[in-house]
Amino acid sequence: MSTTKAAGQPLILLYTGDGKGKTTAAVGQALRALGQGMRVCFIQFVKSDTGSGEIKALRCWEPQVEVHITGCGFSWQNEPAAVAKHGRQGWELAKQKIGSGAYDLVILDEITYLVTWAIVSEKELLAFLDTLTAPPHLVLTGRAASAGLVARADLVTEMRPVKHHIQAGVPAQPGIEF
Ligand code: ATP
Ligand code: MG
Repeated sequence: MSTTKAAGQPLILLYTGDGKGKTTAAVGQALRALGQGMRVCFIQFVKSDTGSGEIKALRCWEPQVEVHITGCGFSWQNEPAAVAKHGRQGWELAKQKIGSGAYDLVILDEITYLVTWAIVSEKELLAFLDTLTAPPHLVLTGRAASAGLVARADLVTEMRPVKHHIQAGVPAQPGIEF
């Protein structure tokens, strides 16, 4: 039986799948919330700060938005211990920010990889989500979201790759990929 949620109740939005568009959808959601005067915290896992356009753009909205890049790069470029350490630190920061009451929307970009790589167990993530009864809304992104997370989210959109210009040899470029 489905439960009824009222407007204003905190929601969990999940953008997953192998297609392009998860992070950009999350940033679009942040922009929409900012336009409504809401306070936003954007936390990115896994990646290090490489000067992506969306991070620069979000920072134009400081202090209404807070941006935290908690990763140290892609996993295959780094020691697993370093990835795990950064992942745990990012997760602790995320819990603190979500629980602070200082934000209306918190985005956890690429968080699914923490579960995939067993840095945070699905059980721990779901147990934390179960404690949330007050704002903020959450946006979670990343490929291969676990079944339990899909079940727990209020909205799940799966990006399905139909065609990608990279397969036609077009390299990653500013404003499109980063
Ligand atoms: P974006 O940041 O553009 O919204 P994303 O968050 O959905 O993409 P990620 O899994 O975070 O995608 O991967 C980031 C990079 O990988 C992007 O530069 C994106 O263009 C590229 N990418 C995403 N999906 C695919 C795909 N199916 N094939 C090739 N490259 C992809
Ligand atoms: Mg992404």
